[in-house]
Amino acid sequence: MSAIVLAPGATIGILGGGQLGRMTALAAARLGYRCHVFAGEDDSPAQQVCDAATIAEFSDHAALERFAAAVDIATFEFENIPAEAARRVSALKTVLPRPEILEIAQDRLREKDFLRAIGIDTASYREVSDLPALVRAMREFGYPAVLKSARMGYDGKGQVTLTSETRAEEAWLEMGGELGILEGFVDFACEISVIVARGRNGACATYPPVENQHVGHILDTTIAPARIAAETAMRAEAIARHVAEKLDLVGVLAVEMFVTEAGDLLVNEIAPRPHNSGHWTIDACITSQFEQLVRALCGLPLGSVIHHFDAVMKNLLGGDVEKWRDALNDPLAKLHLYGKTEIQPGRKMGHVTRLIPHR
Ligand code: AMP
Repeated sequence: MSAIVLAPGATIGILGGGQLGRMTALAAARLGYRCHVFAGEDDSPAQQVCDAATIAEFSDHAALERFAAAVDIATFEFENIPAEAARRVSALKTVLPRPEILEIAQDRLREKDFLRAIGIDTASYREVSDLPALVRAMREFGYPAVLKSARMGYDGKGQVTLTSETRAEEAWLEMGGELGILEGFVDFACEISVIVARGRNGACATYPPVENQHVGHILDTTIAPARIAAETAMRAEAIARHVAEKLDLVGVLAVEMFVTEAGDLLVNEIAPRPHNSGHWTIDACITSQFEQLVRALCGLPLGSVIHHFDAVMKNLLGGDVEKWRDALNDPLAKLHLYGKTEIQPGRKMGHVTRLIPHR
């Protein structure tokens, strides 16, 4: 049994106003908690469903302090929230996961160094701090290889695939960062992710690995559970739990991995927050990833991760959202729209989870 730290009625602060904050707030409301969002702009997806909002830049210290004063505990919904903002809030109120974890996850070099240090396999990588270092690393790795900016990368942003045709100068400019990481190209059989929730008492609840299909580096489809061998799935879950334990995480963590033809698992990325590949858990599992986060934050026991359906989750990216009516005509589909008014190519506007009853 874990000691309940925050009883229903308390206010959870969410740094970031996107759809992950929105779905966390919806889960929190169901358990009787209130949410207060801190976001850079008005009418964000999270604000639309929260009780209160602070609208300010993440660099606005006074606003961060006002936010901290108004909440009982805080979390973040996106790993590119400046860690300094999370630290400011944590000086006044508990922030979970710990801001130090945010610092690891938002820097691809620190992230991979951390993973290697705890014995987890990753793609081979080199730090590249300038053009000559990139040229050296390109020679060492051969082609193809993947250059990524160390910071502020997500959904393939700041990422360039290098071939023998690529000129180092152009790749460096396209990457757009001051510090990069060159990774060996992984010829994977499939990509999977595992979401693990970890409570204040160290108890873990791990969802089965799911299979992720990307289009243009953005998640397009998640197939749950992943179509991989049971033994591979067990190893993947063990890896996710190991990472959560070594981070001393309280909250929810997504661990993205490549599965090679030989069945080896290489961790690509970790995200210490609910994850797009876990959206299926809302409709298909007894407890969603968002409810697990609320439970972990508040010191409630974690819920069951049993899934009563298999599922295929498809993101509604950009103009795909116009097809939202189709989902309503399918009795096994659950439509989720994020309340974003401006459609941009590749922007995550909503998702549809199609449930597949167990036979
Ligand atoms: P990331 O921004 O690291 O999550 O990468 C986005 C997507 O790019 C991944 O989900 C993969 O499909 C692909 N990718 C990233 N790194 C590599 C790599 N080292 N080798 C092959 N594909 C990669």
